[in-house]
Amino acid sequence: MQDIPFDQRDGWIWVDGKTVPWKDAKVHVLTHALHYASSVFEGQRAYNGKIFKLEDHTDRLYRSADILGMEIPWTKDQINEACYENLAKNELVDAYQRPVVWRGAEKMGLSVKGTEIHVAIATWSWPSYFSPEARLKGLRLCMSNWRRPDPMTAPILAKSAANYPIGCLSKDEAENRGYDDALLLDWEGYVGEASGANIFFIKNGELHTPSLKCVLAGITRATVIEIAREKGMKICERNIRPEEMGDFDQAFLTGTAAEVTPLSEVGDFRFKAGEETIDLMNSYDALVRGK
Ligand code: PMP
Repeated sequence: MQDIPFDQRDGWIWVDGKTVPWKDAKVHVLTHALHYASSVFEGQRAYNGKIFKLEDHTDRLYRSADILGMEIPWTKDQINEACYENLAKNELVDAYQRPVVWRGAEKMGLSVKGTEIHVAIATWSWPSYFSPEARLKGLRLCMSNWRRPDPMTAPILAKSAANYPIGCLSKDEAENRGYDDALLLDWEGYVGEASGANIFFIKNGELHTPSLKCVLAGITRATVIEIAREKGMKICERNIRPEEMGDFDQAFLTGTAAEVTPLSEVGDFRFKAGEETIDLMNSYDALVRGK
């Protein structure tokens, strides 16, 4: 399954209210989104047949669409229902799911007037984002030269295709240099996030993570904060200077795809997957599986 190109797999994709064979879910080359990145999306996972925090993902999809000025022509309940429908149609219970909203090919040019808003939902099996070996050892991150921009200069708070070139370029450079991923600072030089995941640090049993001024409001991030609070840990959401990474003994990434993944290295700094990280990882695993 792993090596089959994504446009040639078997299965079913929900497109604008209809379920179509996977290979028929196509768009035209003059699709507005392909030229102007007028697209927003979600990445969510189902565990044992239940889509984890589906309502939160759908809320974020609508918030992202709103930032991009797109009105989704379905209600949130209809989208949630379609997500479950597509999971069942593909006969999957453990899966990754990608709802995507985009401006179509009805009109060409920067003006969005007259373009229609399309929605698709694809579901497939995707066990682990990082390899199990890399996860066990702790991921190695290099420092990216790209920075998360000021929300005044890009729709950075939306989960939009418009924001992903810096992530893709950072990830590609990291992989070319033998790293698992890269850490992007923000436009002011504070710690931001990895290419597709939020970052946390631990010192003296306290959790530190960048505030939400220009990183994605990760649903896994919010979940881990909730879990840590219940455990009585202190949470500091703040500006973190890159040099401060030397003060922390543990670090990990969070994301729907990445789940909770320990880090062993970020630039010049080294970390160990300590007691608190392992405990948060296990609690997250138990929660998503409804245990
Ligand atoms: N930051 C970025 C840039 C991402 O792409 C993702 C993955 N959606 C995250 C953070 C983590 O978000 P979530 O926990 O909601 O998957």
